[in-house]
Amino acid sequence: MSKEKIIGVWLVWAVIWPLGLVLIYNLETPAISGSWINLVIFALLTVIVALFPLRIGDHPVFFSQGVAFAVFLHYGLFAEIVISQIALGALLIKVRLSRHTMYRIPINQLMFLMISVFSALLYEGLGGGHGPEAVDEFRDFFPIVSYAVSQIVLNQLFLSAISKWLYKRPFKWLDQGLLWDVMTAGLVLPIGFVLFVVFLPFGISGIFFVGIPFVFISGMMMMYHNSSQVNEYLKRASRIGHELTGELSVTEVLNIFVDHMSDLLPLDHLYVFDVKESGRLKLIRFFDRSGTLEFPPVTLQKGESVSGHTLQAGKGAYYKKRTEWRTLESPYIPDASESVLSVPVVRNNETVGVITVYSNQKRAFLQFQLLILSILANYLGVAIENARHYEKTKEESERCALTGVYNYRYFDDFMKQSFLKHEKDEQEPVSLILLDIDHFKKVNDTYGHESGNEILIELAGRLKEAAGKDMTLARYGGEEFVFLLPGFDEQAALAFALHIQGVITEDPFTVVEHILKQEGPVSVQVTASIGAASYPDPCEEPLDLIRQADRAMYVGAKQRGRNRVAGYKDLMQPVQ
Ligand code: GH3
Ligand code: MG
Ligand code: MG
Repeated sequence: MSKEKIIGVWLVWAVIWPLGLVLIYNLETPAISGSWINLVIFALLTVIVALFPLRIGDHPVFFSQGVAFAVFLHYGLFAEIVISQIALGALLIKVRLSRHTMYRIPINQLMFLMISVFSALLYEGLGGGHGPEAVDEFRDFFPIVSYAVSQIVLNQLFLSAISKWLYKRPFKWLDQGLLWDVMTAGLVLPIGFVLFVVFLPFGISGIFFVGIPFVFISGMMMMYHNSSQVNEYLKRASRIGHELTGELSVTEVLNIFVDHMSDLLPLDHLYVFDVKESGRLKLIRFFDRSGTLEFPPVTLQKGESVSGHTLQAGKGAYYKKRTEWRTLESPYIPDASESVLSVPVVRNNETVGVITVYSNQKRAFLQFQLLILSILANYLGVAIENARHYEKTKEESERCALTGVYNYRYFDDFMKQSFLKHEKDEQEPVSLILLDIDHFKKVNDTYGHESGNEILIELAGRLKEAAGKDMTLARYGGEEFVFLLPGFDEQAALAFALHIQGVITEDPFTVVEHILKQEGPVSVQVTASIGAASYPDPCEEPLDLIRQADRAMYVGAKQRGRNRVAGYKDLMQPVQ
């Protein structure tokens, strides 16, 4: 809402509200002498029912309207206005308006005032009376029902006017909101009427006859609401759990977990710890709703801080405010934190992690949310283990167990993924070099197979070191290695191949597990033949690079004497 409108609202309120009250008091001074105490009790009652509404599902039902109705029937308009405005005041305090929403106070006060006045005019116009006179004849039924109906209609009328004029929002007349208002009014107003009728003979003790069933209905509804709320949370937890356990990447699992938790709980900070082999807790995930804090590199001992304490205790904890966990404070925990939920992550009866969430509000969480967090923590534990297992298996299936570089399967898939759907007009150069150790069989025969392996391991190490960030290195076969070189044209690829040749020949390899008679390490000189192929010149299809590099290696390097580098283009050149 614009500033001008807010000022306008406050101005209108400042004139109409106090003037209206004075005017009404003078026009219809209530006959309340001697019954002040009753009015005070009604006022108390209305504050109580405004602060503790009956909850049906997520909707609060306020009985203040019923109390005000009883007061109206008994004492008239002015007393009713006072009671309604007190109820409204209690309600506005309860919802804790911020500075920016304060303007709702005058709007609501004026609206309530208008509804009170117009319904009363109708009631009195139709001959309705107050006190015992209100129900002494059958035809009193008519003004009473009219009063109730006018309250509903006026409420709707004012809401639509406010929505249109002040908020410029369209207003739907016949929607769920209206149906709900009609239904609650149908419950609340007759109860107000009963309260009035019982009040006539019994006085203030009548409140108890009507009030006591209320407290019980309210309690029952609350229990029902709580259990349906827990039910709802459990359903969500189960959905989140399925989503988590279906995910195969650890990072994604944690992302999904954090996303859902920040949605599910009113938390400000979330910490996910992993239990390391040392028995310490290491922070693996951190969430800060304000987005201002960096990831804190936290490691905790058992018993240290809130999370370390949870690890030690092996069970969840809910602290409602900071003073309850003062002895567990730690510098990394944000200063404003008050409420805490902390649960162990348990897998196979073993604590494998701790999850702790903090809110800056006191009593931010509900007791059952500890249970929900606990369930989700255990889902998370299983999901992370699955994902880690999957990532490890995948990593292993992609790598050569002997040398640790990628294997043929990975390289082949990688090539297909990179180039199968490649655009024909894509002219970004890419090269591939393939190397094969010369006379490796002889090496095996001379020094033994184990020494052959030692050489392969050392060679892979040298090649890894020589490989650039963007290159992909793989063991393509027994003693064959391949490099994919994105961005390399033929000239650059040949230069890199020469560099690799140097890396292999500059120093001899060392073998220890040899079959020679002599003891101790032995040096072995190794050479390799290297073939290179490049796209788009001369190769026209990236998936052909392997075949062309192999041809270059075999024909251009092996056949021409080994320990050489050859490009596919050179094959046509005469032997040097
Ligand atoms: P060239 O390539 O120069 O023609 O001769 P070469 O002796 O290297 O011949 P070839 O490439 O045909 O033979 C490869 C040899 O590499 C055969 C095999 O004994 C050996 N080899 C393959 N894989 C391994 C391995 O994992 N460990 C060891 N120690 N040797 C291997
Ligand atoms: Mg070979
Ligand atoms: Mg060979």
